[in-house]
Amino acid sequence: MRLLIVEDEEKTSSYVHRGLTELGYIVDVATNGIDGLHYALEWEYDVVILDVMLPGKDGYDVLQGLRLHKKTPVIMLSARGTVDDRIRGLREGADDYLGKPFSFAELVARVQALIRRRAGDTADLTHLRIDDLEVDLQARKVTRGGLRLDLTAKEFCLLSLLARHQGEILSKLMIAEQVWDMNFDSDANVVEVAIKRVRAKVDAPYPHKLLHTVRGMGYVLESREEHGRQSGTS
Ligand code: CA
Repeated sequence: MRLLIVEDEEKTSSYVHRGLTELGYIVDVATNGIDGLHYALEWEYDVVILDVMLPGKDGYDVLQGLRLHKKTPVIMLSARGTVDDRIRGLREGADDYLGKPFSFAELVARVQALIRRRAGDTADLTHLRIDDLEVDLQARKVTRGGLRLDLTAKEFCLLSLLARHQGEILSKLMIAEQVWDMNFDSDANVVEVAIKRVRAKVDAPYPHKLLHTVRGMGYVLESREEHGRQSGTS
């Protein structure tokens, strides 16, 4: 789970950042509206925590810019906790609103509610199927041909990322960021090693391969036509 905090007050952002990191979330911080919008558009976040009063662009402008392109869940924070602010935030596409000062426990409850709500919206997406491979995101269970596969937490994370984007080529950079919270230059080899491990469990024992390497681009999880029927490039 990856979250973004857009907040210029260092005290608030570091407090929220520390608390959410301890709970196991990967948390990015932007300290102004321009960076905040850029991050929110550039990366995939599960929830964006967006302050209203920001230098550069205010929270409403960031929200508007984001909503032109994405439906990422947004919780707005504001010291000006008036009804007008709340209504404006929600009307412009925020998913929730929290007045300052807020308790950390309340923020966490709202974040978790948004994540659950989104999982509920896409209920069918918590159970993914690629050919005879099934990934249950909620129960964190993987089966192939009905047989349970035993994956480590990181292997599960990697496989579920690929499964959620089945048919799409994911670059090593994207995988590294989503699964390990690292930049590409830190160690791309970690991705290759993990792919190899997942492949050994998910593909090696089976004749029909699902996890494919796309040379120079990345990896894709998909059920491909058998060779005899394949047309064009693979
Ligand atoms: Ca602020």
